[in-house]
Amino acid sequence: MTRLMHRSLLSTPPVATSARGIEIFDADGRAYIDASGGAAVSCLGHGHPAVLDAMRRQMEAVAYAHTSFFTTEAAERLGELLIEDAPEGLEYVYLVSGGSEAVEAALKMARQYFVEIGQPQRRHIIARRQSYHGNTLGALATGGNEWRRQQFRPLLIETHHIDPCFSYRFREEGETDEQYAARAAGALEEKILELGPDTVLAFVAETVVGATAGAVPPVADYFRRIREICDRYGILLILDEVMCGMGRTGSLHACEQEGIAPDLMTIAKGLGGGYQPIGAVMVSGKIYDAIRAGSGFFQHGHTYMGHPMAAAAAVAVLETIRGDNLLTNVRAMGDLLDERLRARFGNHHHVGDIRGRGLFRAIELVEDRATKRPFAPARKVHAAIKKEAMARGLMVYPMGGTIDGARGDHVLLAPPFIVKPEDIDRIVERLGEAVDAVI
Ligand code: PLP
Repeated sequence: MTRLMHRSLLSTPPVATSARGIEIFDADGRAYIDASGGAAVSCLGHGHPAVLDAMRRQMEAVAYAHTSFFTTEAAERLGELLIEDAPEGLEYVYLVSGGSEAVEAALKMARQYFVEIGQPQRRHIIARRQSYHGNTLGALATGGNEWRRQQFRPLLIETHHIDPCFSYRFREEGETDEQYAARAAGALEEKILELGPDTVLAFVAETVVGATAGAVPPVADYFRRIREICDRYGILLILDEVMCGMGRTGSLHACEQEGIAPDLMTIAKGLGGGYQPIGAVMVSGKIYDAIRAGSGFFQHGHTYMGHPMAAAAAVAVLETIRGDNLLTNVRAMGDLLDERLRARFGNHHHVGDIRGRGLFRAIELVEDRATKRPFAPARKVHAAIKKEAMARGLMVYPMGGTIDGARGDHVLLAPPFIVKPEDIDRIVERLGEAVDAVI
């Protein structure tokens, strides 16, 4: 009997005993293709020698040093590397241990910035429905996934949610990209005016929406308009690239493809590639300079922030992505995955949408393609597909069954950046069988 309290208290998952490349093996010797990188984490696959070596060397040099006493070469190097390729204006890096911690730190940094520059009345956070920003209370309050939030609502700080930019679900008949971008971004301006522009602190959004809605990219021009609106009212733009960042969509940061830069950006998951838990907030010079000129101290901090082992792993991950030119493979294999998904599911009567960027792709499953009506949440289509996929040696990341009704079940794919064409074929073939077994 297990003494671990697992995610589900009703079942215990298989025991993973080894992992190499794009596969994880369980205690019975069964192999699973990691077509979701866990939860879009394992960007280099498993057992990568360069990362293991870097971690071993770091462990022998210094495994831990508290950041109130020391910095380390690994952490400093990671800061340098991240800033070398950062979106314009992002000049500093604050290291934490994961995505939720990064979001919490970004929210607090935004608030402290306004307090320090003499605008303490700014307190409202605006975010989007059908988003996920983490499971700690501040991050959960920011996210717009009602299924995750509902029972904790009395504990959550007040946050204001607008509709996401989600073409398949919210674009009106006959609307062009431009018209839809203007309407979707316009919702932010309306909310700002309703709350009072000088009371709003920040707008938080995933550049490409991840787990909650399934690899939903914005339409062209949406984020350019969002950036303009934030600037017009002096509001900070926080982009959450915990899931879609670090190369996943084919550029190191997803916002590069939108032609804008945020004031604060959160990254995690692919940053450590699963080798170590690590996240970061990338901070604009404007915010850093204001806090430096003010109190000179960011009033936050975690025991494991800037952990040397995690930093060493992240340095090795980033150097491998660069050195092995993996973003080129992400783009090429991403296009191939899209092509194969369209060939397999394009005419499937329960697949309403096929979308995504790079190696961040999803299919959306609906009961009725014509009306886009989702399956009833009680059918738990996503859970059944996950089970069927696992039975076929395939890890995918399905989600669905929300109480907001405005989206269906989806299956998210986020394979490691090292996938080859034959892997893509095996992934789509097994996913096809799993979907057909359920709907
Ligand atoms: N933000 C986004 C966009 C995420 O997808 C996630 C996790 O899925 C988080 C934040 C939270 O990250 P973590 O689970 O590392 O706390």
